[in-house]
Amino acid sequence: MRALVKPTAGPGLVLTTVPDPVIRDDEVLIRVRCAGVCGTDVHIYEWDRWAQGRVRPPLVVGHEFAGDVVEVGHLVTDVRIGDRVTAEGHIVDGRCLLCRTGNAHVCPHTRIIGVDRDGCFADYIAMPATNVWHLDDTTSYEVGGIHDPMGNAFHTALTAEIPGANVLITGCGPIGLFAVGICKAAGAARIIASDVNETRLALARRMGAHDAVHPGAAGAAVRAATDGLGVDVVLEMSGVPAAIRQALELVRVGGRLQMLGIPAAPLEVDFARDVIFKGITIYGVVGRRMYDTWIAMSRFLRAGIFDPTPVITHRFPLDAVDDAMRVITSGEAGKVVFEVA
Ligand code: NAD
Ligand code: ZN
Repeated sequence: MRALVKPTAGPGLVLTTVPDPVIRDDEVLIRVRCAGVCGTDVHIYEWDRWAQGRVRPPLVVGHEFAGDVVEVGHLVTDVRIGDRVTAEGHIVDGRCLLCRTGNAHVCPHTRIIGVDRDGCFADYIAMPATNVWHLDDTTSYEVGGIHDPMGNAFHTALTAEIPGANVLITGCGPIGLFAVGICKAAGAARIIASDVNETRLALARRMGAHDAVHPGAAGAAVRAATDGLGVDVVLEMSGVPAAIRQALELVRVGGRLQMLGIPAAPLEVDFARDVIFKGITIYGVVGRRMYDTWIAMSRFLRAGIFDPTPVITHRFPLDAVDDAMRVITSGEAGKVVFEVA
């Protein structure tokens, strides 16, 4: 089959031919139709410090996808050939304390497709049947293929109290943009989105943000919308230190800070002033809750109250990997996807 592979330690990805995956008895084989490209793939492509420390080539890259089941293992009972599916890309042990207490999203033994084992930028991928998520007939492969990052946004938003809330979303990358639409659907009273990128601010407005502003104007927008009090909830979706500091400043006393964005390095926080005496709650977001996030996401899509499609701005074939990476790093894109088959 064709696959985008990191062949050896070093920059780049190559489209090459590799053997079809062989499934185990508890796995299914999926014909990939559409696959989302994520910042993680860019890190692996560029071969930055994180990738060097984590990824062991050779590896098929990619972790966001949707497709059709073409083969099922002998022990699989609830997935059939022909099913249209996507999948949770975090493969957990199901046995540890975290998994057994409903917290599989922070299983210490998680292995991620396209990072720790072969991924989905390929014609086929093997997945444990327990990770497979069925798509409604009305859900396109394209939307199916971005369930992973949409799920990050659903997890971040829905573990806060959004109905009636004033919400600040710092960072309008694909996940921040999804979060705008989710907060809108979930009944936020006011959504203020910030980014340094005008293209992305325009997309935030399109997704339903009441205010979409440069970070320099976010403080004024928040104060105007909240009688100077600060927002009830901040969804931090940039990972940029300046935005994290602003999030801590603009969340109201007793408010909630949902942290999804991943800072590249440690940063200094005045915990006494910004966390303790403010009485705020900070929630660290890891992936998607298994499987509450997936259930909620499917219901929002089925109900037609959340439409992620405006966020998808670029589509490429697998052999245009360099173009896909360039468009992502340029900042001119929303979500970028590969049309695989
Ligand atoms: P992204 O990195 O493209 O989005 C970040 C956005 O923040 C960009 O649009 C950028 O212009 C903007 N930004 C830069 N400086 C800013 C500032 N001062 N204020 C506000 N915005 C600013 O992409 P993404 O894919 O949407 O991911 C968002 C973050 O979430 C990244 O840090 C990513 O690593 C992280 N992430 C976390 C998880 C998790 O499980 N915790 C999963 C996926 C991604
Ligand atoms: Zn576990």
